[in-house]
Amino acid sequence: MTDLTSLTLTDAREGLVQKSFTALELTDAHLAAMEKARVLNAYVLETPEQARTQARVADVTIAKGEAGPLAGIPLGIKDLFATTGVRTTACSKILGNFIPPYESTVTAQLWRDGAVMLGKLNNDEFAMGSSNETSAFGPVVNPWRRDGSDAKLVPGGSSGGSASAVAANLCLGATGTDTGGSIRQPAAFTGIVGIKPTYGRCSRWGIVAFASSLDQAGPFARTVRDTAILMRSMAGHDPKDTTSVDRPVPDYEAAIGRSVKGMKIGIPKEYRLDGMSNEIEKLWTQGADWLKAAGAELIEVSLPHTKYALPAYYVVAPAEASSNLARYDGVRYGARVNGKNIAEMYENTRAAGFGPEVKRRIMIGTYVLSAGYYDAYYLRAQKVRTLIKKDFEDVFAQGVSAILTPATPSAAFGIGEKGKADPVEMYLNDIFTVTVNMAGLPGIAVPAGRDGQGLPLGLQLIGRPFDEETLFSLGEVIEQAAGHFTAKKWWV
Ligand code: GLN
Repeated sequence: MTDLTSLTLTDAREGLVQKSFTALELTDAHLAAMEKARVLNAYVLETPEQARTQARVADVTIAKGEAGPLAGIPLGIKDLFATTGVRTTACSKILGNFIPPYESTVTAQLWRDGAVMLGKLNNDEFAMGSSNETSAFGPVVNPWRRDGSDAKLVPGGSSGGSASAVAANLCLGATGTDTGGSIRQPAAFTGIVGIKPTYGRCSRWGIVAFASSLDQAGPFARTVRDTAILMRSMAGHDPKDTTSVDRPVPDYEAAIGRSVKGMKIGIPKEYRLDGMSNEIEKLWTQGADWLKAAGAELIEVSLPHTKYALPAYYVVAPAEASSNLARYDGVRYGARVNGKNIAEMYENTRAAGFGPEVKRRIMIGTYVLSAGYYDAYYLRAQKVRTLIKKDFEDVFAQGVSAILTPATPSAAFGIGEKGKADPVEMYLNDIFTVTVNMAGLPGIAVPAGRDGQGLPLGLQLIGRPFDEETLFSLGEVIEQAAGHFTAKKWWV
């Protein structure tokens, strides 16, 4: 039998319906692969019993012809999603052994449709980071290595475990969250597909909050079609999240293969950064050429406030984070370190429970929200945010269907290589992705080429609000032209 872990989600779905293999066999193949790949540190918790139970149920529904759209499909879940009865920590010590008595809406919808949970995936602590190095469970290793080198590389972040697990065939797809790039950047670093939907498309209920006005859940998979399939199950209105939008969920898969002829694609001139590497420049031009060959029209567009996006993001996101993280005080959740009185208990718990990057964000957030500074920082950043959103609206008003940019300024870097002396060096990873969160738009990252050292590189397509379908159509054009990217297995 072919190795069941190397199938695409689409092929696995077909194989299950055709009864070429059972859901239990498919799940067992993944559980065995996970066991051999522990060196990647992608999973922080494996849930084999739950997986086998769900797989057996899927086999019954398939036999009865009552299978849901994801029946028997094994998935990994970012540890930011609350899962009933299964430890959920956001990869922070402060949540300790927190076992939620409730399920996030997004994961509930995946189980409703028959998917199987293999385990919980590593991420940067509270999703703050671009390399998965801030996790309390230690860094995740990228399955990709530079040609001729065995140096361990980061998978990107914050959804590093999700990206690494999908790229290493440790699940057929995974959930992620994206506040400033945490789906698109790791997808690009590991040669897979990831989409951040429009703000409000997926419910945030039951997902550990980082920056509530920016956070959005989305899927990772190895093909554009597979992400479209997952997205249909994850999206939808949820009265429990007041920012979730009540619009029908389209059949995203139907957008695959739809013609892109005549579509206007914008190339934003402000994304051509000083000192941009030749490799990224070439990749971007290549992507534009592929879309042109498929009949799209490429035009230069301007997003003049791009240069303010990163600084404004690093005011807004920490401000919201400092407020969201106030609830971790040693009383309600997980870890507690006692003190002489309640104030000291709070202090001791927070001092011991949060890692250095999370503390930095809380300090920045508290500072920009404090009396006397609020107008100068937080209010001004909100105004910049409005201007960034307007830049996109102006471009879309010219009839542009989507915008093409690089996903990241470079390929994956080594563990421990960046951000030690200056955190801004790490923050710069998100230069092409944060604008999309600030404007609430959908963005997809699709693998498109390799750098000089053999590492995958991705392109990003940014769409109009709630027009994920166009991103899937265009993304698949790039995928068809670029082919698939598979890391050489060195960990077994
Ligand atoms: N890297 C960005 C940050 O650290 C974005 C993270 C995310 O999207 N969750 O804030």
